[in-house]
Amino acid sequence: MSKTLVSVALWALIGWLLGAWLGADIGWAIFALGLLAMVLVSGQQLSRVSKWVKSIDEPPPPSVGPWDEILAPIYRKLKRNRLELQERHRSFQRAILAAEALPDGALTLDGDMALQWCNQTAAGHLGLNLDQDKGHSILHILRAPDFARYAGQKSWDKPLLLHLTIRNQERLLQLHLAPYGRGHFLMVTRDVTQIERLENTRKDFVANVSHELRTPLTVLTGFLETLHDMPDDALTAEQREHYLTLMMGQAGHMQALVSDLLTLSALESSPGQDGRPVGMPGLIHAALDQGKALSAGRHALVVLVDEDLDVLGSTQELSSAVSNLLTNAIRYTPDGGTITAGWQRDAEGRPRYWVQDTGIGIAAVDIPRLTERFFRVDRGRSRETGGTGLGLAIAKHVAIRHQAELDIQSTPGAGSTFAIEFPTERQCDAIAQHNSAA
Ligand code: ADP
Repeated sequence: MSKTLVSVALWALIGWLLGAWLGADIGWAIFALGLLAMVLVSGQQLSRVSKWVKSIDEPPPPSVGPWDEILAPIYRKLKRNRLELQERHRSFQRAILAAEALPDGALTLDGDMALQWCNQTAAGHLGLNLDQDKGHSILHILRAPDFARYAGQKSWDKPLLLHLTIRNQERLLQLHLAPYGRGHFLMVTRDVTQIERLENTRKDFVANVSHELRTPLTVLTGFLETLHDMPDDALTAEQREHYLTLMMGQAGHMQALVSDLLTLSALESSPGQDGRPVGMPGLIHAALDQGKALSAGRHALVVLVDEDLDVLGSTQELSSAVSNLLTNAIRYTPDGGTITAGWQRDAEGRPRYWVQDTGIGIAAVDIPRLTERFFRVDRGRSRETGGTGLGLAIAKHVAIRHQAELDIQSTPGAGSTFAIEFPTERQCDAIAQHNSAA
């Protein structure tokens, strides 16, 4: 029996008892007063409840009678719902954070392909602004016919590769649609611009290497066929010698090319290292000896070397860079020119190796491309002097691996200066090195 009925029955009992004792009128009056008191208490309780409803997260007001039975379960239920809601909100936030942490872009679309949500990566990929674009069709946002065709498919087994210009930047994006839930769509976006660029570089590189090897190989094969097809007595000893010299030249060029390719590959595949003290003056003098042989007296060679200055690094790598810059200067300087090789600290105290020539020079437009593999200003001249087109690419790589900079200054017709500038932390004193070695 509810508390209300018990209270009414109690008042009725009190009224009946007092009525039997003091008279029926008094009994009824007591009963009526009892009911009135119950109504007043309920009214007061109602006003407390209506106040409580406005701040429902608080516990209910103290209650009398049946109100406690009514309010307590409501409050318990509300509390449970609130906790559940908080937990759901936390799960939702975790899901959003996880989606934000995805390395790929992700966006959700409703059944009409209207944007509902996207993570920051997708916003960056597609140039979206969620506040403005939410609710708009992704077809209208992207306005790409290829994407419209892709979105019109019934299923999406494969992603779509799409070239887009976002904020003046050309990009190649991989987009993959997938249906989820009730007629909604998830789209995953990935920026593959860099991958495509690398793939193109790789293809160009393979094509270049094949081309570089094919030319000497064709010449070599031609000579071999001539020698093979000719009767022994058809060639004089001088002619035979001449052919063999030319063939050796071509074989030598292929050897130089393969050797430079191996050097580049070693530079790319091994990690950069702090290195040991490298006797730079010794390397420069050795390169100068080679340079003198290459120049064969056609140039004046000047040397300005600080014999006490060494750097930390790789002897093999630095030797390659030092001789590449010097042999280039000799190869691209006409007879009678002057080549100066220097190794000193610059005005800021940084160790600096430089080679200055009075050669043909390089046009400003070509300078940024000089360190690209196989780039030559004059292909014929490079080949004539035995160039592989890889010397400066190697020098640049070596410089980067020593945290150094390759600086190129040139004036067409007047000459060039190629310099490798090392950070001061790389320098070491040649004398200190000998002492520590002792
Ligand atoms: P290559 O084997 O063709 O010399 P490099 O990578 O060493 O290849 O040099 C790339 C190009 O830079 C050369 O083909 C040449 O056109 C230009 N170059 C390099 N050094 C000099 C220089 N000292 N003077 C003028 N041009 C140079």
